Amino acid sequence: MEKEMIQVEKLNKSFGDLHVLKDIDLTVYESEVVCLIGASGSGKSTLLRCLNFLEKRDNGKVILEGQEIKKDTHDINEVRQKVGMVFQHFHLFPHKTVLGNVIEAPLMVKKMNKEKATQLGRELLKKVGLEDKEKVYPSKLSGGQKQRVAIARALAMEPDIMLFDEPTSALDPELVGEVLETMKQLALEGKTMVVVTHEMGFAREVADSIVYMHEGRIVERGTPDEFFENPKEERTKEFLMSTS
Ligand code: ADP
Ligand code: MG
Repeated sequence: MEKEMIQVEKLNKSFGDLHVLKDIDLTVYESEVVCLIGASGSGKSTLLRCLNFLEKRDNGKVILEGQEIKKDTHDINEVRQKVGMVFQHFHLFPHKTVLGNVIEAPLMVKKMNKEKATQLGRELLKKVGLEDKEKVYPSKLSGGQKQRVAIARALAMEPDIMLFDEPTSALDPELVGEVLETMKQLALEGKTMVVVTHEMGFAREVADSIVYMHEGRIVERGTPDEFFENPKEERTKEFLMSTS
């Protein structure tokens, strides 16, 4: 794990008077899986959104694969091709089939030809275990299947980095496992991932590194063993007590 995929330096973000991200420094290396955890309201989603330029930071640096992304960059489409994102709620297009959903961005944004996009779409549906659902409409799918389509759709832009914002939080408990399994497969294939999650079992098993946020700051970062077995900060200990 050598190459730096994401470098964040002294990033700050406020909404009005509310200072949500405070001097965030974060480096994510190639093929690394970083799980971002912390209480609700600690700034996890805002941090992911700043990485994907869904949200504009106030100051600080964001460097993606060695390229500094200026705060006022207008070419956010280029950024979004490097960085895919999966949300808690999977807004699939209801009037498109599963395959149609997956190939929409390659066709429209990447201008890929239909044949190539279809081939890619089928490969990705296979990867998420839904190769038999390509002609089905989203309304016929379970929540876990929809989320796996959303993952395939994000992968269809062939991003080097994948961001996940609580991808299993909206799912019925019995559907959580299949989505985590899909994410684990991606991790094993070497995808660089930043995952906001409350699934401590997943974090422990799959993450290379755990980042704990509290009130807009990164309080602690460590390997799962260090973090769960031997947290250094009082804040982290309190958090772990509250979740166990
Ligand atoms: P988390 O994902 O850790 O729960 P968020 O990043 O969603 O935290 O939110 C951090 C803080 O920023 C919260 O207090 C939230 O209410 C506030 N916040 C998030 N988005 C906005 C917004 N668009 N406008 C105003 N406040 C926001
Ligand atoms: Mg959030």
